[in-house]
Amino acid sequence: MPNKARANLENLYRIFTVPEAPDSTLGAIDQAISDDVTGFLQTHIVAIERNLEEIEANFSSSAIPEEPTYVSEYTEFVKEHLVAQSVHTAAPGFVGHMTSALPYFMLPLARLMTALNQNLVKVETSKAFTPMERQVLAMLHHLVYRREDAFYPPWIHNSQAALGAFCSGGTIANVTALWVARNRLFAPEGAFRGIAREGLGRALKHHGIDGVAVLVSERGHYSFGKAADLLGIGQDQLIKVRTDANNRIDLKLLRQECRRLQDKNIRPLALVGIAGTTETGNVDPLEALADFALEIGCHFHVDAAWGGPTLFSDRYRHLLNGIERADSVTIDAHKQLYVPMGAGMVVFKDPTALSAIEHHAAYILRHGSKDLGSHTLEGSRPGMAMLVHAGLSIIGRKGYELLIDMGIERARTFADMIRQHPDFELTSVPELNILTYRYCPQAIQQTLAGATPELTARINALLDQVCQLLQKHQREAGKTFVSRTRLRTTRYGEGITVLRVVLANPLTTDEILTSVLAEECQIVQQPEIQALLQQVAEMGTAPGLTTG
Ligand SMILES: *Cc1c(COP(=O)(O)O)cnc(C)c1O
Repeated sequence: MPNKARANLENLYRIFTVPEAPDSTLGAIDQAISDDVTGFLQTHIVAIERNLEEIEANFSSSAIPEEPTYVSEYTEFVKEHLVAQSVHTAAPGFVGHMTSALPYFMLPLARLMTALNQNLVKVETSKAFTPMERQVLAMLHHLVYRREDAFYPPWIHNSQAALGAFCSGGTIANVTALWVARNRLFAPEGAFRGIAREGLGRALKHHGIDGVAVLVSERGHYSFGKAADLLGIGQDQLIKVRTDANNRIDLKLLRQECRRLQDKNIRPLALVGIAGTTETGNVDPLEALADFALEIGCHFHVDAAWGGPTLFSDRYRHLLNGIERADSVTIDAHKQLYVPMGAGMVVFKDPTALSAIEHHAAYILRHGSKDLGSHTLEGSRPGMAMLVHAGLSIIGRKGYELLIDMGIERARTFADMIRQHPDFELTSVPELNILTYRYCPQAIQQTLAGATPELTARINALLDQVCQLLQKHQREAGKTFVSRTRLRTTRYGEGITVLRVVLANPLTTDEILTSVLAEECQIVQQPEIQALLQQVAEMGTAPGLTTG
């Protein structure tokens, strides 16, 4: 609290009314991020990683502070223990995750959004923001489904319909899509009043089936597991179909799985195609999946949380051909729309689809109201749609196209660097802007080429450890960052540990990518890693397996 850190009414009024002085700690931070947010992050985030236990020590008390404190005192704490220990996700060398730099205008607009503090659950707390969010959903719907302009006027602001649902991210978007699919499959029919009223048990009984299943490739996002759990489908009925050498769902195996389900009297509820898998950025054959969904008569959902914005690109849009046949499509705004964390969307081909999950309340969300909350899983929500609206308006289709094209082309460049480097193995060829690779010196690659399955497994187990240590050391050094995952590859059969790179930050240069590999070559010189590589060398028959 300003002035005196004492709980009295005067101070209470002041924290609601008096702005922070520009020379105060918070005022100075406010000014600094307004002046130069990039510089601020660079100076105030400490590069070298402290261990998590050390950081946890600053957050270990469960006691709520009894006495008020000064804002400046608290801000010092924020600077030292939160800002300094944050992850510099905007750094151009941070290429390991889907979170990257933001356009500068997002910050002041986000502050404005907070100042306005609209609640998008209902019109009574979000006039102007509700129509704006509906427009954003229509724009994304248009991006996906390419309906003629005349399609939209009857639907865009229609209280009975919703072209989609805005939410906090891809997880909720995917849950919403499957929720709609489930309620439409078990819609009211005769004496049966629908699953929303009677529950899953009675719904299955009514249809004379023993369960429902969701089919997705093994590269499917973990949010489908949550959805299967939450919607009563059961995680065992989330069928993860194996992928081919390009990380795309294997259509033959998909058919087999469906026959297996049929034998067990389980009905496919939804077929999910992925447009940009989280781990490798590959796109399922969406046309073929649309055909198959039609054939088996189930909901076709496309998870384009990552890859959706590829539709902005004239050159690469075709990679997602078939997406316009999906019943529902997830797109994350906090990924490739470059909006801050906490914005995702799901759009539906049929503008009446969302009525399957419509809910009402007596004091808001009344029948016939335009309250968005009647068609969303979440209740109170911030005006994040404004930031999507800003991105779409300011960056525009052509701006996003440039960002998308650049990322895809940079991924190809990086893949070439890896291919040409004797000590690295490209483990997934980039289709969009994500790729995976691992450290695997040429001599080991040669050994692997002629190795028995047993030797291969033993070598890979050691290389997995190399990969894990390499990624850990690189992260701790804080110069550049790549992530790591485990993938079953068709080449090795079993899962291997790989490094994962996501190229969405336009400030990431080829030089930075060169330095990522150079740093990795340095890190593997450490004795701990050399010892592992030595073990591999002793296993193989080829001489001179170590490179260090
Ligand atoms: C990121 C992602 C999700 C989940 O989105 P969140 O915003 O993290 O909830 C779902 N599917 C795919 C393919 C993703 O890349």
